[in-house]
Amino acid sequence: MDILDHWVSGASFAGTSTRTSPVYNPAEGTVSREVRLATVADVDTAVASAKAAFPAWAETSLAKRQSIMFSFRELLNARKTELAAILTNEHGKVTSDALGEVARGMEVVEWATSIPHLMKGEHSENVSTGVDVYSVKQPLGVVGIISPFNFPAMVPLWFFPVAIAAGNTVILKPSEKDPSAAIWMAKLLQEAGLPDGVLNVVHGDKESVDALLEHKDISAVSFVGSTPIAKYIYENAAKNGKRVQALGGAKNHMLVLPDADLDLVADSAVNAGFGSAGERCMAISVVVAVEPVADELIEKITSRLAGLTVGDGTRGCDMGPLITKEHRDKVASYIDIATADGATVVVDGRGVKADGGTDGFWLGPTLIDGVSTDSDVYKHEIFGPVLSVVRVASYDEGVAIINASPYGNGTAIFTNDGGAARRFQREIEVGMVGINVPIPVPVGYYSFGGWKDSLFGDTKAYGAQAVQFYTREKAITSRWLDPSHGGINLGFPQN
Ligand code: NAD
Repeated sequence: MDILDHWVSGASFAGTSTRTSPVYNPAEGTVSREVRLATVADVDTAVASAKAAFPAWAETSLAKRQSIMFSFRELLNARKTELAAILTNEHGKVTSDALGEVARGMEVVEWATSIPHLMKGEHSENVSTGVDVYSVKQPLGVVGIISPFNFPAMVPLWFFPVAIAAGNTVILKPSEKDPSAAIWMAKLLQEAGLPDGVLNVVHGDKESVDALLEHKDISAVSFVGSTPIAKYIYENAAKNGKRVQALGGAKNHMLVLPDADLDLVADSAVNAGFGSAGERCMAISVVVAVEPVADELIEKITSRLAGLTVGDGTRGCDMGPLITKEHRDKVASYIDIATADGATVVVDGRGVKADGGTDGFWLGPTLIDGVSTDSDVYKHEIFGPVLSVVRVASYDEGVAIINASPYGNGTAIFTNDGGAARRFQREIEVGMVGINVPIPVPVGYYSFGGWKDSLFGDTKAYGAQAVQFYTREKAITSRWLDPSHGGINLGFPQN
């Protein structure tokens, strides 16, 4: 069986571990390769490589760093179908969605190509007579990036292009469930001219993550994953004196007002609920329907679900499998919970006929009506193709439900009433808001991140906040002496 190595100092690195983890092809349900799970010693080796590469990389001109990012962007664009095929093979998402993932990640590379502009400081002349003050942004050192399974290319791309362009060196710890994309991108960056040791990839599980959190030479940690692990990462990285941003899980609501165009709403609900088999942190998992629209909307969603095809992502289907058998079974278990809690299962995805392997991790689109906010179906992040409908009597009731959620990643309102949309935008306690846009992922030159239990830390991913996260500012007060500056004065300068 093929074993995927780590990537350290610009080369494959087997390390010292004897532990490996299976990587599946979820559409077949078979193991396609194994991936190494790093030991503390392996993490030490990778961090030592990144630490050794840091001084020269931090000294490398902005022009050179920019040109490497340009080359990386061009290579990525030219070879995106290769990367998309890796994503489909290990994650299961369909080819069109995999290409979309690469495109959204590439936006951040494009943003990072403007690093000479982004690293500019400020300058004030003559703050006191003959005295100037200015600020510069400098890199932090070695940063750790820990990413989830659901976007094996895009989420690492949210972070490492800006971290690297800003002059840092990086240890990327991708999800052990679909680790090949990270290695592919590291090799591509080498081809683009990135010096060895600037980006290292370490595969692993909790042991390697803890080693990164505790390593004295790691300055900052960017994490994306489920809320309990995000909280753990935030607390432990902070305890060890590191700068940390930890993006967590989500439960995203779509509020539908009675004046909305229900055909457009149904299209959006299906796209946002079932794209990538619901394994998106910005997926819509709850439709909050303000009566009297629920019956008609459910009918329209149901008729669209009848036309969705499920299968192997390479075969032109709409929706692929889930990531593992365990995850598929867990997601499916919520369908029984829904029935037990008094909801109505309108469409049950358990009997789906998939165009793929008989042992694939299949679950078809599932629609549940009348979900109570007390049910675990509502409260838990299910992270699969299960869309709940919660019926409410008014806009205010809908907003109160959304604001009571512990999560605050994304939300959307569907309406033709500009005043209602504006009110929603102001009142809703969620970090990313869509107005007639079901998945409001900000473009690469804004920043991505939720509120409440969807983000621990105070800086979001990519955009201007990424530059802030991956640099530290130094303020310099400068005076070029001449004889008129002599004399003793123990007070603060006044003018
Ligand atoms: P996960 O939390 O299980 O794993 C994320 C990372 O943490 C992986 O690299 C994994 O190896 C590591 N990890 C797992 N268990 C750990 C432990 N006990 N200690 C230390 N590290 C551990 O998440 P996942 O299942 O890979 O991804 C899905 C989750 O990610 C969902 O909750 C989803 O909402 C969330 N997500 C959030 C965003 C966002 O931007 N907020 C984006 C994508 C995914």
